[in-house]
Amino acid sequence: MPSDTLRNTRSHLFYQTGHPRPVLDRAEGIYMWDSEGNRFIDGSSGAMVCNIGHSNPAVLAAMQAQMERFTFGYRLHFVTEASEALAAKTASLAWPGMDRVFFVSGGSEAVESAIKLARQYAIAIGQPSRWKIISRSPSYHGCTLGALAISGYEALSDPFLPMMQAMPKVSAPRAWLDGLDPADPATGAHYAAELERKILEEGPDSVLGFILEPVGGASTGALVPPAGYMEAVREVCTRHGVLLIHDEVMSGGGRTGRFLGGQNWTAAPDILAVSKGFGAGYVPLGAMVAQGHIVDAVMAGGGFLHGFTYAGNPLACAAGLAVIAEIERQDMMGNAQRTGALLKRELEGLMPRFPFIGEVRGMGLLLALELVADRDSKEPLPPELRAFDRLTEQAYQRGLIIYPRRSRGGYSGDHVLIAPPMITTPAQVGEIMERLTDALTAFAAECGLEAVA
Ligand code: PMP
Repeated sequence: MPSDTLRNTRSHLFYQTGHPRPVLDRAEGIYMWDSEGNRFIDGSSGAMVCNIGHSNPAVLAAMQAQMERFTFGYRLHFVTEASEALAAKTASLAWPGMDRVFFVSGGSEAVESAIKLARQYAIAIGQPSRWKIISRSPSYHGCTLGALAISGYEALSDPFLPMMQAMPKVSAPRAWLDGLDPADPATGAHYAAELERKILEEGPDSVLGFILEPVGGASTGALVPPAGYMEAVREVCTRHGVLLIHDEVMSGGGRTGRFLGGQNWTAAPDILAVSKGFGAGYVPLGAMVAQGHIVDAVMAGGGFLHGFTYAGNPLACAAGLAVIAEIERQDMMGNAQRTGALLKRELEGLMPRFPFIGEVRGMGLLLALELVADRDSKEPLPPELRAFDRLTEQAYQRGLIIYPRRSRGGYSGDHVLIAPPMITTPAQVGEIMERLTDALTAFAAECGLEAVA
């Protein structure tokens, strides 16, 4: 259907409510064009998905080659070179001992798979009383009922509470908001102590796992854990026989400068979930990766009672393999570190001019701006202002796509994520900053907020 027809026809699609959007025509590198030729900078890689940029020729060629041979082989009927090779590559990039890989088609599926494997493991080792998954508030782990039950995201989960099992929550380690020093290991210990209290309160024999995003995504806005946190929560989990699950759906795939966000610290999880940057927008793809001994116990106990039809889809796996090859060939993780550091400095440089920027957070090319009414008191902007949405729209009108916070999670703050593809150059950082500065100026004027000229 031609673009004009598309634009003028009532859509049969429905998603969440949102702003009317133009028809996407093509995309290349960090740029996207609508059907009228307007160019956008993909400053959030979609929803932190298109990590290696759009239309990468090597990935397209790998997909083409796979398509010409076959596009589907059901996992109970055949193994495929693509799925075997991607599983081996994924295991080599994960933590030592985490060498068993289970493919899925997205983040929610990866998280569901992780919590179901954890549960079957507990049963297999004779601990069937363990079923609770502790998670953090705020957090987001997916929209299926199981993943939603462990998400600290009330606005999305409340209507469905009667249909799912509410799970215990602890505070996300938002040191800045809580007035604690993120560089002080006592801060990490403080949040880990809350986890331990929660495990004791719930009864350690009932707690199956603790799930966290190593570097926070949309709910916490690129939250980097405070010093000592990752090691301290690992230690608490080990002490109480609780499985540690890393949700790397957003932080995995190289964007933080390491293939897994958690690899910026030393403490390994027992199970992890990846998606988004794993298929990098070329295909729906995700994986759950687990310690070998966990999978062995579950398999010895009769096998994993779980699996999706499209698991290990050869086209998706061929694309995923090519995505990783491109990340390595172009040293994109090195670029995420270097360009991320540059972009972060530039964003921090905006703070004197725009006092409503409360904090610049993040790691590599997963960065966020927190928007506040007062930087010292951290008082949030009035929720009815919908500042996250207004700033995102001002940027969109200037051809810059950024990602707004949609969560509330007990604190009515606003943030936007800035996470361009890992191929972004210093000159393109300049382009992003120019548009973002204009958007911030217009946003300040629209909302009556102070901005220094
Ligand atoms: N976990 C995290 C950390 C995420 O950011 C997301 C998606 N935003 C999900 C899980 C769910 O992924 P999906 O939307 O692909 O199901």
